[in-house]
Amino acid sequence: MIILHYTGMESEAAALTRLQDATAQVSAHYVVTESGQIIQMVAEEKRAWHAGKSCWQGCEDINSCSIGIEIVNAGPLADFPDYPEPQIAAVILLCRNIIARYQIKPWHLLGHSDIAPQRKIDPGEKFPWGHLAEAGIGHYVEPAPMMAGLALSFGMQGAEIALYQEKLASYGYGLVINGEFDELTRAVTYAFQRHFRPSLVDGIADVSTCQTLQNLTYALNCEDF
Ligand SMILES: [Zn+2]
Repeated sequence: MIILHYTGMESEAAALTRLQDATAQVSAHYVVTESGQIIQMVAEEKRAWHAGKSCWQGCEDINSCSIGIEIVNAGPLADFPDYPEPQIAAVILLCRNIIARYQIKPWHLLGHSDIAPQRKIDPGEKFPWGHLAEAGIGHYVEPAPMMAGLALSFGMQGAEIALYQEKLASYGYGLVINGEFDELTRAVTYAFQRHFRPSLVDGIADVSTCQTLQNLTYALNCEDF
């Protein structure tokens, strides 16, 4: 797998210092700077400490099966700045290279928030997943348009919720299928929206969110595993 992060620190220098500090106990295979420079921090065959407690498709040791890429971006410290074009071009180049060498499936390119939805929000809703998809990187469908209809939200229960949870889980998200729109389901909904329906990230599974999920799982099932 490839896991994308933002550094979430005030500067590139601060991020690089932290990623080289053994006592910080955090590391990543690559850092991509705002100008598009790619810096290797850890050999690919070594296990980097970037994912933390996480889960995808039932796998809970993501660090052992992934390459971690830290993208320099201040995130919440600077009100979620846009990712500059040269930086995204470098991310695409790096991902394309890694994907080709390990035959990584498109749906195994994920954000930190996808695998740790209750703890992490990076690389954030400003990250241009659609732009990467246009370059042939990652798994993506056009977000379904906003429309009126039943919206599933925190506290609701029933078969509709169970079905929604099943779809999220079948795509890979780690959640419990219990028919309750609980805190975990809300956290996963936020993560899903950050990645796949970024125009509104509110933790409410509206028609657009559910339809985007439906289209995404359909697209996955059409793929040749
Ligand atoms: Zn992260």
